[in-house]
Amino acid sequence: MTQEQYLPLAGRRAIVTGAGRGIGRSIALALAEAGATVGVTARSAEELEQLVSEIKAKGRESLAVCCDVTDPEQVRSMAQTLQAGLGGVDILVNNAGNAGSHKFVDHPDELWHRMLTINLTSVYYVCKALTPTFIEQRGGRIINIASIASRVGDRYIAAYTASKHGVLGLTRALAAELLPYNVTVNAICPGYVDTPMTDGNVRNMMTLTGKSEEQVRDFLAKTSPQKRLIAPEEVAGLAVYLAQDIAKGVTGQAINLDGGGVMS
Ligand code: NDP
Repeated sequence: MTQEQYLPLAGRRAIVTGAGRGIGRSIALALAEAGATVGVTARSAEELEQLVSEIKAKGRESLAVCCDVTDPEQVRSMAQTLQAGLGGVDILVNNAGNAGSHKFVDHPDELWHRMLTINLTSVYYVCKALTPTFIEQRGGRIINIASIASRVGDRYIAAYTASKHGVLGLTRALAAELLPYNVTVNAICPGYVDTPMTDGNVRNMMTLTGKSEEQVRDFLAKTSPQKRLIAPEEVAGLAVYLAQDIAKGVTGQAINLDGGGVMS
């Protein structure tokens, strides 16, 4: 056996949504480092192409397909193309998502529908497109990047919170339904992670509060008992664990990764 064949995900094929930057990019790279072939998807081609080059430089195969995960037709086509290109799929990471905030009085309906569609309905579409393969092959891993907002409520993020609570509901229902087929379905629930999405949140909060970037970042860090933002690589490490054979007993779970803020 070569050294490569000893890697925990050698021979596995993964699909990561929202892989162009932030958490999804870290997960795609970490899965590749663990030996997997990785199909990546998002809307921006340039970021995906750069990522594919980096994965290939690690000696793994990789393929990119542009797709808006809120469009069921595009999702079906992306799933077919990536499965054909990778030779199948063993691991699905539903990571694509977005955050938006507004006080509840005068909450824009557009924001409500946008949050539900990008954070929850998209996960439904992608799972629907790939679940038949997992059932047929009697095995697979589905890892949903939810949020600590899946576990608790907070001010000004009603739509985001409802969408991420929904991701947990879908995770648990699917875990129960796919149990007989050796498919595990789990959710990772991070607190604030240092990504471009958080950079955007910081800019919004600066505008709304008149505070400096340093003050806003300090405020976000202090929402965690560890007084720091989570690094995307920490989320990736947990995803790689859940993708492995050793995690076969873990299903239907929501794992908090928030520096100890929520302990249930
Ligand atoms: P980023 O905004 O940094 O990256 C999001 C990725 O998703 C990009 O690659 C983006 O690419 C892609 N994406 C966004 N919309 C779509 C779409 N409609 N179709 C396909 N791809 C899309 O986000 P993060 O890395 O911060 O977040 C990733 C996930 O983690 C999200 O689900 C988020 O809710 C969750 N999360 C994030 C936390 C944080 O503090 N950052 C905390 C807890 C959870 P493109 O725009 O090119 O499509």
